[in-house]
Amino acid sequence: MKEINKQLAQQIVDFGKKMFRAGLVAGTGGNISIRVPGENAFLISPSGMPYEEITADDIVMLDMEGNQIGGKRRPSVEKNMHRMILKARPEFNAVIHTHSIYASAYASLRKPLPVFLDIMSCVFGGPVECAEYARIGSDELAINAEKAMRGTNVAFLANHGCIGAGENLEQAYANVELLELCCKIYLAACSAGIPIPISEDDIRLTREEFAAKYGQRD
Ligand code: 13P
Ligand code: ZN
Repeated sequence: MKEINKQLAQQIVDFGKKMFRAGLVAGTGGNISIRVPGENAFLISPSGMPYEEITADDIVMLDMEGNQIGGKRRPSVEKNMHRMILKARPEFNAVIHTHSIYASAYASLRKPLPVFLDIMSCVFGGPVECAEYARIGSDELAINAEKAMRGTNVAFLANHGCIGAGENLEQAYANVELLELCCKIYLAACSAGIPIPISEDDIRLTREEFAAKYGQRD
């Protein structure tokens, strides 16, 4: 078994607590992974352990074929979902899966969330697709989730929850947090009418402008 990078493992521990305390998951729901730089491997949260109890020693390392190469715990049952996304998308270094309330409610509708807020154009760049239903922890769910996320950085998992990825854990977390907020706003809007989707042209222009101009630059 290989030695696990303690600093990287600690990031998973910290973000696990953060997502649990923010109410994005309850109990032992959800899971987190992060790519190991310079190695064809990733770290992932252990299966079924309470977030307040997990320490860096509980984090597991897998190679890109799914073999456990570090850590003593059993990895998350969604290891293949994380692995397939990290394998298919080299631009992502971290993946987070949550059961947050509004995203899970929307995921039970098994339909895409249209771009109805400008921030969705900036961050997701298009509608959020729903992965076809497959049971928790199945290889089929891993395949469906990777497919639903093509072209963006988040997806719904039908009748289950959502998943998001990013360049680092901060970004992956921000993406699932934003998806939760968008679902909450969408469902609130639905109580007063039908939200109007933003046009494809405006989505593209907003995305381009945001990528070129937003935030602090040197
Ligand atoms: P693990 O505790 O095995 O990560 O499973 C939680 C979960 O959310 C399964 O979808
Ligand atoms: Zn889950």
